[in-house]
Amino acid sequence: MDTAIKFIAFDQLNSALDRISEQLDVWVPVASKDQKRVIQFAPYRPGMTLVLDHQTTLGPKQVVLPQVEALFRFDYRKSADEPSRQKVQLEDPHPPAPTLIFGARPCDVKGFLVLDQVFSAGPFVDGIYAARREQTLFATMVCGQQDSACFCSSVGSGPTDRTGSDLWITPIAAGYVVEALSDRAHPVMAWLQEAATELHVAAAGKVQEEAARQQVGNLAVDQCQQHFLQRFADTNYWQEVAGQCLSCGICTFVCPTCYCFSITDEMKDKHGERIRSWDSCMFFTYTLEASGHNPRPSRLERYRNRVGHKFSYFPEKYQGLIACCGCGRCIRNCPVSIDIRKAVQNLQGQNHACS
Ligand code: SF4
Ligand code: SF4
Repeated sequence: MDTAIKFIAFDQLNSALDRISEQLDVWVPVASKDQKRVIQFAPYRPGMTLVLDHQTTLGPKQVVLPQVEALFRFDYRKSADEPSRQKVQLEDPHPPAPTLIFGARPCDVKGFLVLDQVFSAGPFVDGIYAARREQTLFATMVCGQQDSACFCSSVGSGPTDRTGSDLWITPIAAGYVVEALSDRAHPVMAWLQEAATELHVAAAGKVQEEAARQQVGNLAVDQCQQHFLQRFADTNYWQEVAGQCLSCGICTFVCPTCYCFSITDEMKDKHGERIRSWDSCMFFTYTLEASGHNPRPSRLERYRNRVGHKFSYFPEKYQGLIACCGCGRCIRNCPVSIDIRKAVQNLQGQNHACS
């Protein structure tokens, strides 16, 4: 099988994706039709215009953990032997198709490495997530478009972080140089027709060197677990960093590492579905108990929980892994400009250096 380094000229990108999408479900970054400023991953269709020179507004989280999905279907049936009783018949969802996420960024992939700890690393495995994850390949691009909200280098990643990716794409002047990073990538490499020349490979090397030199963000996260606990009861501090919060939940919906969800049963007659849908810990109702008691009734307590979850509780549980990939989406999209870096940096008694 021919799996040498490959090259895709700009004007050949769609025909390459046409060939791949005959074999796999392919998701690509595109601008939404109605709101051109929103870029998100969508199933590839021939002729689509990809947006590869800009971080997406929403990452590819929904490909593996959809915003709304049926976990299973159920039917209530009368028992022929005992008509006074009903039986419940369950139907599993369809098994996932092999899928390629084309044009993700290192921070997008890092987000899945966080989600994996919760859904598929055990001891409790979410079978639906694990099956989709197993079937999903990442063709990730070296990132050269950081903005002032990005801080991936501060949380253990960076523009050339290949961890978790299967193919590595480097944009050069004439197109894209593609390398295989895992055995699972070899069939995709074989569907790409043009081998990269020495000149292409050398140009890609320069792009990667330049990107690797970038230190993206200057947030110090050492000992943030302990500092968070010391700040926990400092209401003035949380008022200062999150007093403006509207509880809108946007920060959680755009976040590659947030995974709060809600479960509901939806029925018509005797048929129904158990639905999982994204939820947000920033909503008042998220922790509202049936008694009327709410352990996190105020916006400040909910924002504090969001910071603590990502920078204190999660690393404490998962061997120091911070549940933030530094993508900056929550910072860019918060309607009142709350900056999670400010909350974390000041936990540690340092001056906030971010605008
Ligand atoms: S908390 Fe913000 S910066 Fe961190 S992963 Fe989530 S959206 Fe990105
Ligand atoms: S996006 Fe901003 S205002 Fe909305 S819930 Fe998050 S921190 Fe609060």
